[in-house]
Amino acid sequence: MSASNRRPVIAGNWKLNKSIKEAIDLVTLLKRQITDFRHVDVVVCPVFTAISDVHEILLESEIRVGGQNLYWEEKGAFTGEVSASLLKDAGAAYVIVGHSERRQFFHETHETVNKKTRAALKAGLTPIVCVGEMLAERESGKTFQVVEEQVRGAFAGFSKEDMAHLVLAYEPVWAIGTGKVATPAQAQEVHSFIRKEIAKLFGEETASGLRIQYGGSVKADNIAELMREPDIDGALVGGASLDAQSFADIVKNATLVAVK
Ligand code: PEP
Repeated sequence: MSASNRRPVIAGNWKLNKSIKEAIDLVTLLKRQITDFRHVDVVVCPVFTAISDVHEILLESEIRVGGQNLYWEEKGAFTGEVSASLLKDAGAAYVIVGHSERRQFFHETHETVNKKTRAALKAGLTPIVCVGEMLAERESGKTFQVVEEQVRGAFAGFSKEDMAHLVLAYEPVWAIGTGKVATPAQAQEVHSFIRKEIAKLFGEETASGLRIQYGGSVKADNIAELMREPDIDGALVGGASLDAQSFADIVKNATLVAVK
């Protein structure tokens, strides 16, 4: 399968931003501004408390809703956690797993990323599994080693069938929220490495079907050049997803590349 057969995904990670009213206002605008879903999947990931309201606004739109995290247990004495089935119940179709902020600030490990991804798949959610190196790791030449460990850890024990139902996001940590976007060549180099790694683990067919998003300071004016790279299948967008016009423009520009 070539890039042209993989359907790009543009997902907005709102992080810890937007009250319920602000979230409703944002998706009301997005619903008006994004109307062409023939070539690109579009997802927004609000805070847990806004998922249900956002889902309701988007019932007649093809924009899907996602969570930003989950816990792997279904229910029980796990104060403060949210399960995959509860996310689904609130209207989520996707969930971000292993974002670098969770790895850095909330002690996410290869093992927890693996368990969370499994739980998401079991509940029928599409996990967006994040990997990416820190600046010091890139500077010391460890990018491939770090990403390989993250990929192997996240998907240990997974089947080809599991891999067909998830999305991977390569997010170099030094590019997240910094305005320092990876060059298309830098991003492509790692995307291609990840795809080869997936091929080693699960075979060529799984690797060529896997959608790998880029994340890190994506904006309307850099999405097209990134998406022209053969192994980049959309983007996970933080800051620029908080404004309707800028997110809609990213989707529009991604669509223009996907159409070709
Ligand atoms: C992110 O949060 O995943 C992200 C890529 O953020 P930003 O687009 O702001 O760099």
